[in-house]
Amino acid sequence: MQEKLLANSWLEERKTKYKGKLLDEKDPHSVRAKLILKNIIQGLEKEVKRNPNSNASGFNHYDEFNWNILVVDELAINASAMAGGTIFILSGTLEVLTDGEVATLIGHEVAHVVARHLFESPRSLSSRRKQELEADYIGLLLMASAGYNPRVAPEYFRKISSMYPDSKGDHEHPSSEERANLLSQAHVMEQALTIYKESWSEYFVNLVFKRKA
Ligand SMILES: [Zn+2]
Repeated sequence: MQEKLLANSWLEERKTKYKGKLLDEKDPHSVRAKLILKNIIQGLEKEVKRNPNSNASGFNHYDEFNWNILVVDELAINASAMAGGTIFILSGTLEVLTDGEVATLIGHEVAHVVARHLFESPRSLSSRRKQELEADYIGLLLMASAGYNPRVAPEYFRKISSMYPDSKGDHEHPSSEERANLLSQAHVMEQALTIYKESWSEYFVNLVFKRKA
């Protein structure tokens, strides 16, 4: 309960900060962002059913969150999540990125929420770093479960790394290159690809089943 109050007050603060800069819910950018978030949350629900003992601590309470995404009118690429489940995404992100790339970003933010990173104040810079990498990993599984090709994620981080070759990362933030390398490790990518294939075969089974019914 305490957490909910805290999450609400943080959200109100942030909304005040972006006052006048939030796009209308009917704006095509808002509609697209909401659709991708909806897919990621469905992916999360499927993943929880498939793997109820997931060690991402918030997974079992995902339905407690009030999921929403708001688009901030700003021509840059970024997204951030609030503890209660609201995600803010900059309109530039939706201008230039493909669905799979946007899903990479949103999956990462949803992962921060479900893993309850946003309630913990990281004790050290290295734990903040650990949270970033954990959100990348969980986000990868979520996007795969939502039916987005997980191979897009490391490609996206490589692209960012080549666009900003000077950003080497720091104690708090892993570099984009490091993030790409960790996500493309064989055991990580194979796990994501298995989930991705399962999500598509389930989709086709449902489609055929519904047609027959
Ligand atoms: Zn993050």
